[in-house]
Amino acid sequence: MSGLGCFPPEMPVPLVEPLTEPFWAAARDRRLVVQRCTDCGTFRHLPHVLCPACQSARHDWVESAGRGTVFTYTIVVHPVHSATADVVPYNVVLVQLDDCGGVLVPSNVVDCPPDEVRVGMPVEVVWDRVSDEVTIPRFRRG
Ligand SMILES: [Zn+2]
Repeated sequence: MSGLGCFPPEMPVPLVEPLTEPFWAAARDRRLVVQRCTDCGTFRHLPHVLCPACQSARHDWVESAGRGTVFTYTIVVHPVHSATADVVPYNVVLVQLDDCGGVLVPSNVVDCPPDEVRVGMPVEVVWDRVSDEVTIPRFRRG
């Protein structure tokens, strides 16, 4: 099982690429960071090469307090990957952070049965170490 036991070890883990390495490096230290354009200040997540507002490639990384609310969600009932066959149904959420421009972070709310997930539910980040390289931000009711 993964660090939090959300998914079995056969679950594919995200690829760490040069664009996303700063995000994953911070996550290994249990810090949630979000890209911010240093020309116009627009936050963006997931990481992109260019700012969607002004097309600048210049950016820095800003640490979030890791709190937000469920913006929307779905309940996965069909195992789209064989590793999830024993864990369906489970939730997939978009968390709107309270800071960092209110960007949306795709994740899961742990320890939350499917019928208890609600839009607007306050959540806070928890960390799920799934490999030496990847620690995934998930959320719990906060
Ligand atoms: Zn910009």
